[in-house]
Amino acid sequence: MKRVVILAVALLALAGGGAWYMGLLTGPASRIDVAVTLYDTNASGNADLTREHIGDQATIWRWDRNDDGSGDVVAYDVGMDAEGQLVATGEIAAWDFGADGVLDSGRVPEALQELMRSPGYLASAQAAGPGNVELVDTSLREFVETLRGGYDDWRLSGFQLPVLGAKLPDADRLLPGARRAYRFGIHQGFDMYPGHVGVPTGYGAPVIAVKVGTVVRADTDYVELAAEEYDEAIAISQAAGTTPEAQLDQLRGRQVWIDHGHGVISRYAHLSGIAPGVVTGASVEAGAVIAFVGNSGMESASRGGNSGAHLHFELRIDGKYLGEGMSADEIRRVAGPLLGAAE
Ligand SMILES: [Zn+2]
Repeated sequence: MKRVVILAVALLALAGGGAWYMGLLTGPASRIDVAVTLYDTNASGNADLTREHIGDQATIWRWDRNDDGSGDVVAYDVGMDAEGQLVATGEIAAWDFGADGVLDSGRVPEALQELMRSPGYLASAQAAGPGNVELVDTSLREFVETLRGGYDDWRLSGFQLPVLGAKLPDADRLLPGARRAYRFGIHQGFDMYPGHVGVPTGYGAPVIAVKVGTVVRADTDYVELAAEEYDEAIAISQAAGTTPEAQLDQLRGRQVWIDHGHGVISRYAHLSGIAPGVVTGASVEAGAVIAFVGNSGMESASRGGNSGAHLHFELRIDGKYLGEGMSADEIRRVAGPLLGAAE
């Protein structure tokens, strides 16, 4: 709430008295003090957190959450003082994840955006240089945790289950982490079987996108496994004592995968069909019908039948499946709210 207030004040002041920074853009005396400090938050030897003080006006934090060399999370500590000038307040006033402008509490004050585009700032930021990498101390570690929490709150919000009005499956064996003895494997998703999720999910039932995203896989040319191919996939898994990735992929049958950005991908499997227009590269809206429940990749399908139909659904977060390493109780506690499951 406090952040929202700070931001609202910033925007109001901008409308009335935002001219102070125009001098910075135009005047010759447009030098701005920019001090940059680099931190190594995970003792990897690389700087993954940057603090940029812009005079007393704002502090900008850039956190490279996956050590790929880019600041995926940008946090702004900025507010307005009594004179209507930008000041650092010690509070994070806005977030910008991956520079796509999704913010916690509105928008970065336009005054700050203008300031950051000004030649004075750009020149000063460049001149400031990176300096030495410092290891993060305890207080900053807490701050990084706050960044991490804010980031996850944002990127993991707005999901729904892939079947309209559904609940989480009512049996633990239908959750991630359940054993799949027939293929010596561990289940990585949620099995939405008819009679177990509160709404019909039989053969041909519509499957919806769990959030807006981009289709990164759609098996529109899928050919069902022959009985021998199915049997071979099982035999290989049993011999290996686990289900190798190639066999696991075969056994998921016809699939659609949607990339929701920031390391989150949803997968829909055993489909009987894919909705028109759902092709690799296509954008899909949250809740759009993308496919239809089926039994592809299952033994019954390889024998020409359509029994056993259900939707297998996975949410992959940073390469792990939702529920990985969790107990069934934990999964229900975490996944229920995350996926907007009906009670
Ligand atoms: Zn499954």
